[in-house]
Amino acid sequence: MIVVMQQEAGESEVRGVCEHLERAGLAVHLSQGVERTIIGAIGDRGKLSGLVLEALPGVEKVVSILAPYKLVSRTFRPEDTVVEADHLAIGGRAVQVMAGPCAVEDRAQLLEAAHMVKEAGATILRGGAFKPRSSPYSFQGLERKGLEYLAEAREATGLLIVTEVMDAGTLPLVAEYADILQIGARNMQNFFLLREVAQVDKPVLLKRGPSATVEEWLLSAEYIVSGGNSRVILCERGIRTFETYTRNTLDLTSVPVIKHLSHLPVIVDPSHGIGKWRYVPPMALAALAAGADGLLIEVHPHPASALCDGPQSLTPENFRALMDQLKGLAGFLGRTL
Ligand code: PEP
Ligand code: MN
Repeated sequence: MIVVMQQEAGESEVRGVCEHLERAGLAVHLSQGVERTIIGAIGDRGKLSGLVLEALPGVEKVVSILAPYKLVSRTFRPEDTVVEADHLAIGGRAVQVMAGPCAVEDRAQLLEAAHMVKEAGATILRGGAFKPRSSPYSFQGLERKGLEYLAEAREATGLLIVTEVMDAGTLPLVAEYADILQIGARNMQNFFLLREVAQVDKPVLLKRGPSATVEEWLLSAEYIVSGGNSRVILCERGIRTFETYTRNTLDLTSVPVIKHLSHLPVIVDPSHGIGKWRYVPPMALAALAAGADGLLIEVHPHPASALCDGPQSLTPENFRALMDQLKGLAGFLGRTL
């Protein structure tokens, strides 16, 4: 941490800051320039975090050098983390495609979707049983019945299940069925829920909040890892910008940025990132090229009659065509799919 003193700060103020740091058990590195003094505070992150140096007389600003997260950072663990979900590895050489409808609507719809995505090469079935909808009048999900259909689809296809958990109250129920617990974008900073999923022995797919910075997203992951669950998969799903043509702006820059800052695997959800099916395939390919470890894609047997997110859902035909293209690209990138 670096403390920049005000230009008019006197010797006693500089001494005051140094003594404050030393009392906290930190070493001090003083750099006295012609115009102003800069104080470097060296030592344990824990000792630095509680200090409110901005409030001391003569301090202009405090610049943090270390990232505020630790366990999820690349510095803490230089090698990539590979998250194991049952027999699958997320974050290794193999790219995992999670596909299926936005919501579980009925038994026939889900089973049809499951068989189709499995045949096309997906390894994980997505489908919401509890749906966070912007409008209270929209379809809210089948809840327990939806989870039962997901379990049946897993049984029938061998696909793993990723499904959203919206609150701590329903967590035990969702965890009973899900292979991977999805924390939705709207809940990325529901710190209470993050602490709860940290105590469950299941991988967590943590979506980026629509207005979350990369740092806030990683801090949310830090909640889960520091709470005892190191199996966190990050999911970029687009952020809110001034652009209104697409549902969100798919921030693919976050993929290499996350790879640099963190050892956690990162996947991309181009469906919610864009909101229009037409643009999903090119951006899914772009995500893979950017270094994503997997994709989360909405596919519906009949998008036109979907109860949720039909406009962004791929038809079976479009999904199969995309999977063929992804396989080609994965080979070129030295990965498998
Ligand atoms: C979803 O995956 O269906 C979903 C609701 O996503 P998000 O939380 O990213 O909006
Ligand atoms: Mn959706």
